[in-house]
Amino acid sequence: MDNTKNGTSILAVNDLKQYFPVKKEKIRQKKQYVKAVDDISFSVEKGTTLSIVGESGCGKSTTGRSILRLEEPTSGEVLYNNVDLATISKKELKKVRGEIQVIFQDPFASLNPRRTIRKMLNEAMDIQNVVDKENREARMIELMSIVGLPADSLERLPHEFSGGQRQRIGIARALSVNPEVIICDEAVSALDVSIQAQILNLLKELQKKYDLTYLFISHDLSVVRHISNRVMVMYLGKIVEIADKKDLFDAPLHPYTQALLSAIPTTDLDHKRKEIEIKGDVPSPINPPSGCRFHTRCPFATDKCRNEEPQLEMKMNGSDNHFIACHHADEIYANS
Ligand code: SF4
Repeated sequence: MDNTKNGTSILAVNDLKQYFPVKKEKIRQKKQYVKAVDDISFSVEKGTTLSIVGESGCGKSTTGRSILRLEEPTSGEVLYNNVDLATISKKELKKVRGEIQVIFQDPFASLNPRRTIRKMLNEAMDIQNVVDKENREARMIELMSIVGLPADSLERLPHEFSGGQRQRIGIARALSVNPEVIICDEAVSALDVSIQAQILNLLKELQKKYDLTYLFISHDLSVVRHISNRVMVMYLGKIVEIADKKDLFDAPLHPYTQALLSAIPTTDLDHKRKEIEIKGDVPSPINPPSGCRFHTRCPFATDKCRNEEPQLEMKMNGSDNHFIACHHADEIYANS
């Protein structure tokens, strides 16, 4: 299924599954798997942002890690510029890892706290073999300027920076190897609202300047609204809705998306959404519910929902680029 507008995608994920085996507690116990990502397909157009949203455990971060092959996918394709990353050599994968960068919630969590920013950037450029030694100094100063930090930041250690500055350095590190795609995994989640806005604006400016493509993973729909072109909503390892940002925010069709949107605090009482309550917790991804995985929490569930899995299909609500997996979307939308 092609759920993009015109197929000019830089990244395409087809039928991706990521199952993790569960340790057996008894010898005769049947082998079980956590179905973190269960047969999803989507693509991202060059120079745009696709956001992936959903509650914790929905599979959004695992999707990002599987694209990078930080977790080897159980099955499926990840096409980057039409090349399947699962089949390329280690040398080719190393090159692609330079072109697809990732920014985590805390970019320093995995770094040596005794290394200065200069050493960190040098190391990244050495690994990807970009920028010759004579031009390194100028490039590092330029990178600091691009992300809005003074040049003497290069001599400082990670702990000397605030959360927002750390994210700026994470962005500089990603940019240092001239990426095409950046996966932002909860990249602004730990920041105060005002700092979040600054980092989102910086990411938008850089996207325009360098024609970057973002996969923006977040649990926070109010953040996603500021940066996305398209938004994909996941629930228990499945895509439940994917649409252009405006369509998704103005006319969400899936009850889960509607519930997520109705939970966003707003001061605009004229446009406040009718609250949709979703009860209980997300079920276990080891034994997901039959039929529609959302049926145990959906206020509109019927017998059909409990027995038949809804497929991701295009819905004609004025947009030809809005896909949803729900048996009763039309009725629910008509009554919303
Ligand atoms: Fe709710 Fe049924 Fe739609 Fe699932 S298919 S979201 S249970 S109405």
